[in-house]
Amino acid sequence: MIRTRIAPSPTGFLHLGTARTALYSWAYARHYGGQFVLRIEDTDVARSTQDSVDQILASMRWLGLDYDEGPIYQMQRLDRYKEVVDRLIAGGKAYHCYSTPEELEATREAKRAKGEKTLYDGRWRPASGKTLPAVPQGVLPVVRFCNPLDGDVTWNDLVKGPITISNREIDDLIIVRTDGIPTYNFAVVVDDWDMQISHVFRGDEHINNTPWQINMFHALGAPLPQFGHCPVILGDDGQKLSKRRGAVSVTAYEDGGYLPEAMLNYLARLGWSHGDEELFTREQLVSWFDGSHLNKSPAQWDPAKLLWVNAHYIKQADNARLAQLVVGQLARQTTSLVVAADSRLEAICALFKDRCDTTVALAGWAGKFYQDVVPDAEEMTQHVTEAVRPALQMLAEKLGACIWDKPSIAAAIKEVLTATGLKMPQLAMPVRVLVLGTPQTPSLDSVLALFDRQTAIARLGRT
Ligand code: GLU
Repeated sequence: MIRTRIAPSPTGFLHLGTARTALYSWAYARHYGGQFVLRIEDTDVARSTQDSVDQILASMRWLGLDYDEGPIYQMQRLDRYKEVVDRLIAGGKAYHCYSTPEELEATREAKRAKGEKTLYDGRWRPASGKTLPAVPQGVLPVVRFCNPLDGDVTWNDLVKGPITISNREIDDLIIVRTDGIPTYNFAVVVDDWDMQISHVFRGDEHINNTPWQINMFHALGAPLPQFGHCPVILGDDGQKLSKRRGAVSVTAYEDGGYLPEAMLNYLARLGWSHGDEELFTREQLVSWFDGSHLNKSPAQWDPAKLLWVNAHYIKQADNARLAQLVVGQLARQTTSLVVAADSRLEAICALFKDRCDTTVALAGWAGKFYQDVVPDAEEMTQHVTEAVRPALQMLAEKLGACIWDKPSIAAAIKEVLTATGLKMPQLAMPVRVLVLGTPQTPSLDSVLALFDRQTAIARLGRT
């Protein structure tokens, strides 16, 4: 049985790298008919917040990454970690270490001075024939794992291929802190074991943790999952995306007018490929995602491409759904404007969605139908000339008298053109500027038909 998981730490929002790893883990499980688990790694008590948990859950929901188990909170599993630690200690595979931070720093400093690696010196590690120091009064111990002293740890990474790290490079890791709370590397092993995780996808910043974890799996007699480490996502400056550098939360993209299917498509493609396919559905992703063709090297976040993908999905989106999203965006933009999703809004979305790459842009257009627009002064001077005023006046009169639908509005416009001898753009441009505040819009009759008649006529008369 394939079982994957995502294990975010609730110390901030769900960032894009974790969202992508979640997506790969989810798609892998779904492809093989397996299960996907959500685990919240909240052992960093000082930095974990409920707000972050809520954001993570909301992001998962928005992206449609449904999980079969969870959320499982590590802080609710402390008894289990204690039980496993006690077993490791009893089996001589972990031990109490009473070295204080000051002592450790002094040892490290001495090693640095000699140009040696600053690994833990093994002072409290039990060994046959070794006498341990006397337990100091009033010092709370940490628990360290007895990492093998030599040999190599090798695994065949699902993304990066074979990786080997020597045990001489790593030391006896702290697995339980003085406050009794386990550290990441230990809790993750107990959890992946208990939750029968078969495949671990995560960011490659964890590669250096994997040898410790593999050694702990062996020490516990637990079966090893397979590991796949995905490279970081780079910003357009070529640097790792970080909270400070361009990385925004998944929910910020929802607010920014992106559709979840666009985000899913873009994120999946960023670091994975299926031939030349750039646009694919969730179902296609699941049917194609077998763990192969994951990129070994970092991908660059490309906002322009994301917009292009989003524009594609906006064009395809159902108008009623877009109307709902536009209402949400309008409420966010203008608190005073409460747009009831009236019958026009769906048609407005249908008319403008081809020219929009976010629902924010679509809401920008829709807003022009519900609140006044301020035409640009230059556009006014250029298009709304004195010469065209009489024609505008005539159009206003005809629009006041015709049936308010697209064919009758088109006929009214034609009559004005015939009567004045103007060409279509000479009339259409000023009308657009006056009514919508911009000369670039879809065809005039379609746009006007979606206006409230009195509003359109009033705007035609503005000076
Ligand atoms: N809590 C870790 C993180 O957010 C999880 C790493 C893992 O998947 O093992 O980076």
